Amino acid sequence: NSFDDLTQLNEKLKRNLSVYGWEKPLLVQRVSMRPIQEQQDILVNAQTGSGKTGAFLIPIINHILTNKREKKFPNEDESGIPGVDVIGIDPRALIMTPTRELAIQIAKEAIKLTRGLEREEIKICNLYGGTKRSTQRFHAFGADIIVGTPGRVADILFPSVEGATKQHFESCEFVVLDEADRMLDNGFGELNNIIINKIKEKRSSAGPVSKVLTSATFPAEVQVFANKFLRPDYLYAQ
Ligand code: AMP
Repeated sequence: NSFDDLTQLNEKLKRNLSVYGWEKPLLVQRVSMRPIQEQQDILVNAQTGSGKTGAFLIPIINHILTNKREKKFPNEDESGIPGVDVIGIDPRALIMTPTRELAIQIAKEAIKLTRGLEREEIKICNLYGGTKRSTQRFHAFGADIIVGTPGRVADILFPSVEGATKQHFESCEFVVLDEADRMLDNGFGELNNIIINKIKEKRSSAGPVSKVLTSATFPAEVQVFANKFLRPDYLYAQ
């Protein structure tokens, strides 16, 4: 009944959980952390307030910390555009939300869970509309976890002007669609499909993309969407 019973946790992450006051996993975390850690596709039936954010953030952060990669960051003095194409925006996890408020809230939680870790070990970044595109783009370089809204994420994946680098999203091992029901209500269903198909195509030989979908309600649209988005053998957790 502890986090360690579910999965071998990185020491720093474990310390942060305890500093945060998360002594043991909540129900939604008990049922979904291990499958996510094992990179299975999963549909999580969870309400806001259940602890669903931790349920996907903990295994994703743990995976990133225990399976390191080499990263490059652009020069901090650069304005954002020149030279960055050689690096690429290449997160290991993309978390998409229906609203920018939710994206900000999830990134804040991820930052708390990774407190004390260097950005070389793990970097979290937000991508959402309504803010300067070039600034957000710049911050996204070297990010391991991007939390964003579909519009701005698509903007990076399918750039209309400059920066159409081939390296964007090639290392993306996890895609989370949080609050799928609200996502569909906000009209993001088709865009989400386009984004995930593009990421799969970019990954191709590099390996699979694990997918997590959370939803508080299950109208037929969510079920249809889940069947399209997840692998046929996906798990259902509630
Ligand atoms: P969420 O449903 O993800 O918005 O989480 C609801 C609240 O539960 C947040 O305030 C979290 O900080 C808190 N929380 C998440 N996991 C745990 C845990 N294992 N122990 C105690 N509180 C938690």
